[in-house]
Amino acid sequence: RESKGKMPRYPGLDRWILIEKMGDGAFSNVYRARDSTGQYGEAAIKVVRKFEMNSSQGDNVLHPDFKKAPKAAERANILKEVQIMRQLDHPNIVKLLDFSESRQYYFIVLELCPGGELFHQIVRLTYFSESLARHVIVQVAKALEYLHEQAGVVHRDIKPENLLFYPIPFIPTRNPKPKKPEDEDKADEGEFIKGVGAGGIGQIKIADFGLSKVIWDSQTMTPCGTVGYTAPEIVKDERYSKSVDMWALGCVLYTLLCGFPPFYDESIQTLTEKVARGQYTFLSPWWDDISKSAQDLVSHLLTVDPEQRYDIHQFLNHPWIREADEPTTAAA
Ligand code: ADP
Ligand code: MG
Repeated sequence: RESKGKMPRYPGLDRWILIEKMGDGAFSNVYRARDSTGQYGEAAIKVVRKFEMNSSQGDNVLHPDFKKAPKAAERANILKEVQIMRQLDHPNIVKLLDFSESRQYYFIVLELCPGGELFHQIVRLTYFSESLARHVIVQVAKALEYLHEQAGVVHRDIKPENLLFYPIPFIPTRNPKPKKPEDEDKADEGEFIKGVGAGGIGQIKIADFGLSKVIWDSQTMTPCGTVGYTAPEIVKDERYSKSVDMWALGCVLYTLLCGFPPFYDESIQTLTEKVARGQYTFLSPWWDDISKSAQDLVSHLLTVDPEQRYDIHQFLNHPWIREADEPTTAAA
């Protein structure tokens, strides 16, 4: 991780003191930052480089309009992401705190999820116990229920890299060290294990609305477009797009339970075919000790026909979700 001294400075972002880099992509960097005015405390800032500033691609002779053409589309995309996030208010969805831009960058200021990506926890723990997997997936599902049923939004990019979390502040060890006096009020190991099982994952938050889409108007509760003139395929399309999130939810649940994804192949073409056919297995020996009930739920999500696939209500009412053998304490 980068040290304080090497943090870049962005004109227009003077209010924020960048602390460390939390994520990076082709066009965006995400930093943990502290608000120098004290209004927000800490936050995550997604800094998105404006397209025309990308010097390595800026002189692309094959696309004379390369510098100009994609800019409007890119801007529209960023604004859509921000616009959608602005509407959302749910404990399991990352909150948008602020948005601004400079000549070269967009700055999306987000609620900080100090735990980072769920993805890294799967790598760290190899796989999750059924109760920890349930603790996680229920929270993702609650967020999807809100998005699908209340906000009229489909996320379309649900995956472990876009699921962030608040850690439980106490990581249990076999032989816990004696507590310092100032730590007396923190949870002890016993409490921690009763709460959520091993792993230290508290509250889960869905991030990255870069591919998300509004499917209906949450004000009028109608599909987007002119009321009464909406074609049946649009109404159906709305249902299909929700089912896209449910498929992804199934992929995440599968991965949590065994530690590897349901569909994988080194060849993209073969992988695409496997997905299209819904060709996956509960691979032995990894799935041998995972309950039949969990497998049943996964198979209702990884169903090729979107009409047959579980929707969010069916998911939340499945016995494996409802049988929750322990209280899911969401320590924020
Ligand atoms: P991209 O569109 O580039 O995937 P994301 O919004 O998914 O952008 O952010 C990229 C990465 O930055 C995430 O996968 C995560 O590691 C980190 N990140 C994003 N938002 C936050 C946040 N609010 N708190 C902590 N880390 C974050
Ligand atoms: Mg992402």
